[in-house]
Amino acid sequence: MDNHTMERLGYDRLELGSERRRLLTQKVTDFIEEHLQKVEKKETACFNINDDRASGLLNFSISEEPKDIESLLKVYEEHVLQNGVDLSHGGHLGLIPSGSAVYPAALGDFLAASINRHSCAFYLGPGAARLEQLLISWVAGLFNFPAGFAGNLTSGGSTATVLSFLTARQSKQLKARDFERTVIYLTDALHVCAYKALNVIGLGEAILRKVPMDKKFRMVPEELRKIVKRDKEAGLLPAIVAASVGTTNFGSVDPIDEIADVAEEFNLWLHVDAAYGGFFVLVDEMKYHFKGVHRADSIIVDPHKSLFMPLGLGVVVVKDGYKLHNANILTVEASYLRDVDMFQDEKSPKNFSFELSKHFRGVRVWLPLQLYGIKPFRECLKEKVELARYFTSRLGEIPGFVVDNYPQLTVVTFHYETGNDDTNERVNQHLLERILQDGSVYISSTTIGGKFRLRICVLHFRSHKDTIDFLLSFLTKAAVSLSSGMIKKLHWRKCKV
Ligand SMILES: *Cc1c(COP(=O)(O)O)cnc(C)c1O
Repeated sequence: MDNHTMERLGYDRLELGSERRRLLTQKVTDFIEEHLQKVEKKETACFNINDDRASGLLNFSISEEPKDIESLLKVYEEHVLQNGVDLSHGGHLGLIPSGSAVYPAALGDFLAASINRHSCAFYLGPGAARLEQLLISWVAGLFNFPAGFAGNLTSGGSTATVLSFLTARQSKQLKARDFERTVIYLTDALHVCAYKALNVIGLGEAILRKVPMDKKFRMVPEELRKIVKRDKEAGLLPAIVAASVGTTNFGSVDPIDEIADVAEEFNLWLHVDAAYGGFFVLVDEMKYHFKGVHRADSIIVDPHKSLFMPLGLGVVVVKDGYKLHNANILTVEASYLRDVDMFQDEKSPKNFSFELSKHFRGVRVWLPLQLYGIKPFRECLKEKVELARYFTSRLGEIPGFVVDNYPQLTVVTFHYETGNDDTNERVNQHLLERILQDGSVYISSTTIGGKFRLRICVLHFRSHKDTIDFLLSFLTKAAVSLSSGMIKKLHWRKCKV
């Protein structure tokens, strides 16, 4: 080795030293503060797409030469923050307003990343493993799971679903030769991540049975029973039923307790997707939606949705913890992991997931939960329920608007009714474009039975009555223009949420 490479040239650049570290941190936090203050004062749009659609970012290529933090933050501001939906903005009422991100969650990430600790194996980080285990137990406790459960903190609901279905497949001892006879039961309202997860674990060839829903988009347990019975008699292998507490499209809640009866009767794996709806269990008035959830074999919840955490955090809990464990442990010996596998009687996250080295994601939810306590989360979720109801009842008073589904949790779908399906689609699409052009609030669209519908989901911790009132006033003005046939000439005043 020549002497040159032994010099600390690279190190001296990478290691900033205390003063520069503080300065750099200060500049980044000042930048964040400036943005969050604008958001709080409602001085920024929630939705915005620039003409170049952020392509200018690509001109700022990665090179040998260093760049200064000011110019990098400027690029970040111009291209990343000025384009798309601002998830920190209370006007976010579209899709599932994920990742509204209470600030201490970011500090948790900062803590985890700046003083990096292993959270994959108990031996490498006993405190880290226990911290994540504490959170999993807390989540399992919310749903009254009996002792013996195990879980994992995942990157989100999709990966949590992969772990659930993988465990179901292993526990049912389904082999490749069985896949074509294996039957999965779901409704049309189940989130698409379930289809992906089935593909990922090799069950893409299984038979999918769509169970009919009632008028409120909930699975009908009696229909499920009939279909499973028929399949069983036909020599098929009924395996998994996937139900939801809070479907994405309608916010509808399947009757879990009655579905659990059918699952028990036919020995099906009951999976509950509560990615969106899960933390409404904290709200007393919503607890009835969770009847029977403790009977599920697996459940997923997304703290990055109904717990106001930044994107990148889901949880899976499996009732029989050994099944999750057995689906994920190595059956070949890895000599380089010998030491790591000490303390077998303690839970190591890597034995409950396909991940090994991973983001110590527990800190981002541990810190805010401990810092705030649970109460403000509960109260904030209750506010969202009330806001969704308020929106629904007020919208019903605006002539021309029709509520398509009353919120079971916080999703409302609606449309302006012109008396003609084709015109309906054109007018409501136009309305959506106007709302997005204004950008003060962000809402999204869907279809119900092939018909175009507008849709809101109230789930942002910064969405309040004034946000809803703004949308209502926007829609009221639209209704006036529409009723006087002025759709083409609509002129929208730029207003703030
Ligand atoms: C968002 C969502 C998912 C998928 O979760 P990700 O965290 O986006 O991967 C699954 N189910 C429901 C009901 C959801 O709302």
